[in-house]
Amino acid sequence: MSIQNLEDLFLQYLKDTFDAEKQLTKALPRMAKAASDENLKEAFELHLQETEEQIGRLEEIFEMLEKPARGKHCAGMEGLIEEGKELMQEDAPEAVMDAGLIAAAQKVEHYEIAAYGTMATYAKMLGMKDALKLLKQTLSEEKSTDEKLSQLASQINFDAQAEAVE
Ligand code: FE
Ligand code: FE
Repeated sequence: MSIQNLEDLFLQYLKDTFDAEKQLTKALPRMAKAASDENLKEAFELHLQETEEQIGRLEEIFEMLEKPARGKHCAGMEGLIEEGKELMQEDAPEAVMDAGLIAAAQKVEHYEIAAYGTMATYAKMLGMKDALKLLKQTLSEEKSTDEKLSQLASQINFDAQAEAVE
């Protein structure tokens, strides 16, 4: 498919993000399982539910564009998830592993924040008000997930640091 204009580019990123979110629904349960801290586990589980709703919003936008909801492989998300997998294969004390899981998850959220920020800008420029509303809703979920992870990190990083001096 050639990309001729902003609408084509918008569709391109929709497909990319649709695939990215789908990849994430497979990774989040593994991250929840690898986490020891109950609040962190819960945060991953909650974000899995949100991610499924976000996929639904993207499907609605494909529908608005009268395009099939079809993803295009997102290499960026694959790489981020791969790094998370490598971390989970390591032997680490619980708090240290949890701190690493938060770091991996925040990279994912920042990646998504960039993607949704761009798509929201395009939707606005293209006059797609309903799409813009849906994209902003997801963008704010990604931002609150990132903030929640930062909050969890303030305790967990501290525990991880205590681990090092024992
Ligand atoms: Fe998401
Ligand atoms: Fe997310």
